[in-house]
Amino acid sequence: MGKKSIIVAIDGHSSCGKSTMAKSLARKVGYVYVDTGAMYRAVALFALRNSLLTPEGGVDEERLRRRMGEVEISFSLDPQTRMPRTMLCGEDVEAEIRTMEVSNLVSPVAALPFVREALTRQQQAMGLKKGIVMDGRDIGTAVFPDAELKIFVTASAEVRAQRRYDELKAKGQEVCFEEILQNVQERDYIDSHRELNPLRQAEDALVLDNSHMTMEEQDAWLMEKFNLRTQE
Ligand code: C5P
Repeated sequence: MGKKSIIVAIDGHSSCGKSTMAKSLARKVGYVYVDTGAMYRAVALFALRNSLLTPEGGVDEERLRRRMGEVEISFSLDPQTRMPRTMLCGEDVEAEIRTMEVSNLVSPVAALPFVREALTRQQQAMGLKKGIVMDGRDIGTAVFPDAELKIFVTASAEVRAQRRYDELKAKGQEVCFEEILQNVQERDYIDSHRELNPLRQAEDALVLDNSHMTMEEQDAWLMEKFNLRTQE
């Protein structure tokens, strides 16, 4: 029974559990998992570290554009968890890209066309051999418009902020629920309103609102869709 190898594109709002379900599926079916949000976060971290900021604290577009060629993003497999860790110019930045400082800068950085063009190209190269689960905001619409399985995930902003709050707390970070809720709402707004490849549901995407689902339920839902699509 030859199952075909496919591309699974998972898009949706911030902090709605996309990466958890994408990772879980990839692990079970032996696919490569790519977190494209981590790639945009790495560019934002590069801007922060190199002080490529305006006096108001926003990203300095021109200076970032000039240095974009230095931004080398890759993933290295953690031997213990077997999950990819984000590398920026050869350094493991997996923890640093998840801070609020980066979260507050990432959406304006991701709205810059030269950033999107560079990362989209890399992402398309990663999917050439298929057998990949990629999550982000524009995977089913722009990166892989022909992906065989497209999922659009969402949940209420409050539920998403609570999940992110619990996650950061568990990692020992000092966080404030209100600040996270505001960040989630601001990113939703910027991500959905930018000019180039905004967050939107692909016409042929299956929608999953997981506000009231457990992780096991959403994993089972996704596995069922995957099985259907690979057996066709
Ligand atoms: O998925 P995550 O929340 O880590 O993504 C961080 C940010 O990166 C998003 O809020 C969005 O601005 C940007 N992003 C994007 N396109 C993608 C993935 C992420 O614009 N494919």
